[in-house]
Amino acid sequence: MSRSRQIIIAGGGIAGLTAALAFARKGFAVRLFERAAEISEVGAGLQLSPNATRLLSRLGVLDALRMAAVRPQSVIMRSGPAMKPVARVPLGDFAEKRWRAPYLVTHRADLQSALLIAAQREADITITTGAKVADFASHAGGVTVSIDRDGRIDEVSGLLLVGADGVWSRMASRVKGASASAFSGKLAWRATISASDIGNDLLDMHNVTAFMHPLVHVVAYPIRAGMSINMVAVTEGPDVGQRWAVAQDNAPLLAAMAKASPRLQQIAQDAAPWVAWALHGVNPAGRWTDPAGVALIGDAAHAMTPFAAQGAVMGIEDAVSLAASVGASPDNIAQALTGWEQRRKPRVTRVIRRGAFNHFTWHAAGPVALARNVILGLSGGERLAASLDWLYGYDAEA
Ligand SMILES: Cc1cc2nc3c(=O)[nH]c(=O)nc-3n(C[C@H](O)[C@H](O)[C@H](O)COP(=O)(O)OP(=O)(O)OC[C@H]3O[C@@H](n4cnc5c(N)ncnc54)[C@H](O)[C@@H]3O)c2cc1C
Repeated sequence: MSRSRQIIIAGGGIAGLTAALAFARKGFAVRLFERAAEISEVGAGLQLSPNATRLLSRLGVLDALRMAAVRPQSVIMRSGPAMKPVARVPLGDFAEKRWRAPYLVTHRADLQSALLIAAQREADITITTGAKVADFASHAGGVTVSIDRDGRIDEVSGLLLVGADGVWSRMASRVKGASASAFSGKLAWRATISASDIGNDLLDMHNVTAFMHPLVHVVAYPIRAGMSINMVAVTEGPDVGQRWAVAQDNAPLLAAMAKASPRLQQIAQDAAPWVAWALHGVNPAGRWTDPAGVALIGDAAHAMTPFAAQGAVMGIEDAVSLAASVGASPDNIAQALTGWEQRRKPRVTRVIRRGAFNHFTWHAAGPVALARNVILGLSGGERLAASLDWLYGYDAEA
């Protein structure tokens, strides 16, 4: 394969694997390098809104994913001393009709595995694990990338290097003007409860439930074909390091819940053990591309706090839209990359703002919380859904 049709991808997470499939479908040969010894199917739950599932469907991944995912009926928002429902956004059939693709909740491992199996079936995709992308040099005609395999350095050349190497991206540190990651001051706590152990009627196998409280919010939903419930709680907290999950004493989580509904506290106690992530973000205003032949996608370009449940979804949109852009003008890579970055930035920035708005409203206290509950109650589910049309109705490939 001539290097004018070869794409090199650093990172085999959700964004990198989606990019491999999307570029292969546009007729490119793909070489994906993953630092880990194997592509490990780790992580927590993911909500996949229709703006992602319509792309996964076109990539031929949705049918496999549906076997393990759950299609929730609605998002229920609860607050107050009794955690009563204050609003319900319909999903299920309503979402599939309104946004022309399903709203699913799944374990990250199930999505990762569906993408990996699809990529392994493509003759034009080569995946190499235990191979760290160490550096790159761009030049006329493409990019040359150094691959470090246990200290042995090889060079590979291609048309484009896609940096999909996550929030602490080495590729970003080598793109002029790219943003570095920064700690958000928040911790995400995660636990699962097996369906057979649920002893609390606040937890629900058919819906996404958001529990709102000034010091902590909790989002719970079914995963693994309904066999367990994934829970994520977000509090203020210290930086526990640049790792995905760290076993953590849950005392700070219980302290944040001290004035919350006793039923919510009971859930936190029943769900132990909890692990915690320090939430790091990447300012999307930095550069995502080097016009000579490098593009950052997913968390490497714009890691975001999970309050709009869109981090992985934006990585999927990035991957598909980048492949469409480069596929449309492979002979003018600078124009393809610059145009792609200009089109993607306003959307990703709006999504990040929406997440910050969600965090503000979910953590509201006193009269602001009362006003929020009244407005949410009066809005009705369909109006709340309509306020998400710009997000869920979007087609990143169009
Ligand atoms: C608590 C929590 C809840 C979330 N909930 C949602 C949700 O509901 N919906 C949603 O859409 N998103 C959600 N997210 C966000 C989502 O998990 C991330 O945005 C997404 O997983 C990032 O994918 P990525 O492929 O960009 O990066 P990563 O998943 O970090 O993958 C990067 C890969 O690159 C590899 N790598 C790193 N450096 C190198 C190198 N030099 N060479 C080769 N390989 C390398 C790594 O080993 C890794 O495999 C949530 C996040 C958190 C923390």
